[in-house]
Amino acid sequence: MNLILLGAPGAGKGTQAEVICKKLNIPAVSTGNIIREALKSGTEMGKKAKAYMEAGELVPDEVVIGIVKDRLAESDCQNGFVLDGFPRTIPQAEALDEMGVRIDKVLEIHVPDEKIVTRMSGRRVCGSCGASYHLQYNPPKVEGKCDNCGGALVQRTDDHPDTVKARLKEYHEKTEPLKSYYEKQGKLVVVEGQEEVADTTRLTLAAIEA
Ligand code: AMP
Repeated sequence: MNLILLGAPGAGKGTQAEVICKKLNIPAVSTGNIIREALKSGTEMGKKAKAYMEAGELVPDEVVIGIVKDRLAESDCQNGFVLDGFPRTIPQAEALDEMGVRIDKVLEIHVPDEKIVTRMSGRRVCGSCGASYHLQYNPPKVEGKCDNCGGALVQRTDDHPDTVKARLKEYHEKTEPLKSYYEKQGKLVVVEGQEEVADTTRLTLAAIEA
């Protein structure tokens, strides 16, 4: 199954992507994680993306489209994938269509803005494998340590409140129009994000099985 996860920053796309990937045994393609890796290892692409990412702005379309094109051509994506954080603009969605990539469903994890800022302040990610946690809603088994790999949990610099506001603005202006883009294609399914991750997960799994 080829899936897209849409949703505001902090809506829990990454966590739901992990759940779906485990269930369907397909990879998650997270443009955010790929860019963060590039930034860490100091590649040309990482250097280009750095300033945008730190300001909470979207990285230019041509950069992310290139990343996704290369990643989807890899062998592990041939039996399906979950796109987490891509597309984020209409030109990105059009590029996906032009690549001939068939999309089965687009899940929007919907969380109202007023809940996003609070959620983001409690979000922690693993510095090694990128797994996502929340101090209140999805805490790790051992404080400060990743359940998957034992890596140290950190707060992303772009999860600070001012950057979160910039990211929400980008989301409403540039990403939200994708909802009607995919609604017109009959692919959009809205999942209401719940307080408890397990409750959202139940709704997500029901949506992909429907
Ligand atoms: P994320 O981890 O998905 O929230 O992405 C973090 C940051 O990476 C975003 O705020 C953007 O700066 C950049 N980014 C990730 N995916 C995209 C995309 N599809 N288009 C443009 N910028 C992106």
